[in-house]
Amino acid sequence: MNKPADTAVTVPLWIGGKPTAGTSTRSGPVYNPATGAVTKRVVYANAADVDVAVRAALAAFPDWRDASVLRRARVMQKFLQLLQANHKGLAQLITEEHGKTLPDAMGSVQRGIEVVEFVCGIPHLLKGEHSENVGTSVDTHTVRQPVGVCAGITPFNFPAMVPMWMFPVAIACGNPFILKVSEKVPSAAARMAELLKEAGLPDGVFNVVHGDKETVAAILDHAGIAAVSFVGSTPIAKRIYETCAKNGKRVQALGGAKNHAVVLPDADLEFATDALIGAAYGSAGERCMAISAVVAVGAAADPLVALLKKKGEAIKVGPGEAHGVDMGPLITREHRDKVAGYIDLGLKEGAQLVVDGRGLKVKGREEGFFLGTSLFDRVTPKMRIYQDEIFGPVLIVLRADTLEEAIALVNANSYANGTAIFTESGGAARRFENEIQVGMVGINVPIPVPVAFYSFGGWKNSLFGDLHAHGMEGVKFYTRTKVVTTRWPHQDTPAPGFHMPTLG
Ligand code: NAD
Repeated sequence: MNKPADTAVTVPLWIGGKPTAGTSTRSGPVYNPATGAVTKRVVYANAADVDVAVRAALAAFPDWRDASVLRRARVMQKFLQLLQANHKGLAQLITEEHGKTLPDAMGSVQRGIEVVEFVCGIPHLLKGEHSENVGTSVDTHTVRQPVGVCAGITPFNFPAMVPMWMFPVAIACGNPFILKVSEKVPSAAARMAELLKEAGLPDGVFNVVHGDKETVAAILDHAGIAAVSFVGSTPIAKRIYETCAKNGKRVQALGGAKNHAVVLPDADLEFATDALIGAAYGSAGERCMAISAVVAVGAAADPLVALLKKKGEAIKVGPGEAHGVDMGPLITREHRDKVAGYIDLGLKEGAQLVVDGRGLKVKGREEGFFLGTSLFDRVTPKMRIYQDEIFGPVLIVLRADTLEEAIALVNANSYANGTAIFTESGGAARRFENEIQVGMVGINVPIPVPVAFYSFGGWKNSLFGDLHAHGMEGVKFYTRTKVVTTRWPHQDTPAPGFHMPTLG
């Protein structure tokens, strides 16, 4: 039953180095998706609360900006140690509120931790360029300076990892940060705030405001915020990008996805199927890099569909904390019903339902938001189950005659986050890599999420903005480059003139 627990914990905001209830009268429920019960409530910050957070961040900015880069790195080193010590605790919070399995949650926290490892090298990453004698006795160098108060708005599916794509980089670069995670999964952010304080981060440098679109509007409208990083669905990403541009803020807005895997007839089909099963149904398909569409080329199709059916049906669905479970519940009842609605729609559209997850019941967890795995074959690009991001455990198979046809199909899709090819042919893989219009590409790797020292980002409707997340693009996003030209006059240097300087 969805009734709130009588003694529900309230997840507070975190402003100026401490938890606070803020002034808002609004709050929302936090569910355990495996039981369907409300386990906590979370405060929804109003515009006044966001303003208090921005003021705290602005007050902390001068000292943090001027703190030596080694000191900033050492805070990150300490934070890294605390994250490692609290890895499992963070993962448990994620499993409780998101529903994904504990090993999957552990893996996602690890990918976030790797961004913190990356920014421990911030003294090196912030080094500028220097050219001697760009003119006679004139030198030029560049410095990277922080942009000011940065904000991050993140989705429900990665409560720790996606925020860690953002705030460790921003903070290590010398910026204060205001984080608004998805209101469905607030606790990991609250815990990371405590760990940052324990790591020695000065109060006000990291703040958390929870909430919904009203809180987001207050962030976008606040003149004190210089840059916004967003990760979420495409319609919201586009709106965030447009609003930030209008309000004069630097912005990167990562959106949704429909990730294709192209399987050629020469691929090792057992290997490809194992990879695809994990990529499609892991985290119940609620990953922006999930493979949701397989393009089976030529003779690969029939045996591949048979293997996907066999292995898809064997997936064990249950509560994320239980041992041996492969896939947990979906995030909310509404989302579960929406995803199940797409299975009805696929049937109406004429696709062939090979595995039907709609009837699944998990014993003892009848109120949980569970849905079994589903597989459609003979899907066409005109169908909505192909065009829409379903964001659930529904894998669709399209058939193509040639690699060319498969590449054209992928390139015609409006999303372009990730894609993969399965083949034994180096030539085919190289052609795919070269011609595919997608931001992140895997060759026999189903979920090609770049490691922290590379950058994460899609193309087309999967990213609005110019710079991707973390890696050097993250450092560029959270800094402004200043170019300094220097001359120290002495008797040999010519006096400055009135014409356009050529520095010869
Ligand atoms: P969402 O767009 O509903 O929400 C994302 C964030 O925006 C949340 O913090 C939410 O509170 C806020 N928000 C929601 N509605 C809003 C509105 N009308 N105005 C302003 N803010 C609003 O996304 P979600 O359901 O939390 O997450 C799933 C989506 O995120 C999927 O589309 C998935 O592909 C995408 N995603 C993308 C990436 C990526 O790197 N490209 C990574 C993870 C998730």
